[in-house]
Amino acid sequence: MPDTDRPYDLLIMNARLRGAESETDLAVRDGVIAQLEIGIAGTAAETIDAAGGLVTTSFVDPHFHLDKCLSRPLVGAITPEEAFARAHEAKAQFTVADVEERASEALRLAVAQGIGHIRAQCDVDYATKLISFEGLLRARENFAEAIDVEIVAFPQEGMIKDMEAPALIREALANGADAIGGLPESETSIEDQRAHVDLVLDIASETGVPVEMHCDYMDVPELKTLAMLAEGTTARGLQGRVTASHCNALAIYPDDEAKAVIDQVKAADIGVTVLPVANLQMLGGPERTPRNRGSSRVKELLDAGINVAAGSDSMFDIWYRFNRLDPVETGYISCLSAGMRTDEEVETAFDMVTTRAANMVGKDGEIAVGAPADLAVHDSPDIVQVLRGIAGRRLTVKGGRVVGGLEKAHWCVR
Ligand SMILES: [Zn+2]
Repeated sequence: MPDTDRPYDLLIMNARLRGAESETDLAVRDGVIAQLEIGIAGTAAETIDAAGGLVTTSFVDPHFHLDKCLSRPLVGAITPEEAFARAHEAKAQFTVADVEERASEALRLAVAQGIGHIRAQCDVDYATKLISFEGLLRARENFAEAIDVEIVAFPQEGMIKDMEAPALIREALANGADAIGGLPESETSIEDQRAHVDLVLDIASETGVPVEMHCDYMDVPELKTLAMLAEGTTARGLQGRVTASHCNALAIYPDDEAKAVIDQVKAADIGVTVLPVANLQMLGGPERTPRNRGSSRVKELLDAGINVAAGSDSMFDIWYRFNRLDPVETGYISCLSAGMRTDEEVETAFDMVTTRAANMVGKDGEIAVGAPADLAVHDSPDIVQVLRGIAGRRLTVKGGRVVGGLEKAHWCVR
């Protein structure tokens, strides 16, 4: 049978793509989009009528602490200082089985929400050794068909202060971790922060893995670790292989200093992931009324031509009580926290949890013939309606297969 006569694996009819005037059909064969036009003929193993609903590329969560999620009953913090100081108490209680169970629960939720790729931070340090890492490897295996899980080996307790971390990080990278993380502000001096950045970048140079570094989580102007990362990246020729997350101090630098750092970040081709959902509650300065919105300087970074994405960061763990891993919520809260108000800015906020987030993890995130069929099918026809979060259906397509979704209860009035 000629290839073109074979049944499709999946046919999505009456789909609306972002920015398109009219609806289209979308056919999938062998995991990729095979045809994209109205009135596709032929049979398919599974057919979905999108009924004019939006079909987008899958959501990507570019920064989530999959190892610690759902562990708040062990230790819960009220302030970021307390969370930094007490995270090791929670991690000391982790077992491989319990990390696997909590991470699997989160991945189940992620698949239901339409996430096709999650960049998972995994603490690797003196407190948890490789226990969390082993748990995440198992959870990743459990959901291998439904979601891509990228594991970032993350030295949360430091690379200098925690003398066990460098060897453990190398071991994780040799055994299935995909990227190296960092948190220079965990160190006790500016010199050690710089040494932390240098060591992480040196390991990345040696091993060829990408870098995803927590920079300036705390919104205190003395923190300069994003600038250190940009300098080190450019010096080593690692442009395009490094991303930075949080970057909250940038929001409260004086404008001229912020501009200089943004220029350095641009020159180093570093992408920035903001985490407004979790950061809104934890940051804002010591006064009773918060001043910083926990979303760095999203608009200035975008204006400079830097890729910016948004992730969920934490869910019911020591750092943050709430969250349900819904990228629609992350996109919506990005609009609120970063003051994204115009139609164009709202579209960009949606990009920050889809295409821009895909670019952040090295993927195209395109809907085109030949592209991977990793998709989210929505009930609403446009992204404003999607971001409003009105009850309705959401389907998750991974590699051309429907792997999950949401059937939200409809509200009713009696
Ligand atoms: Zn984080």
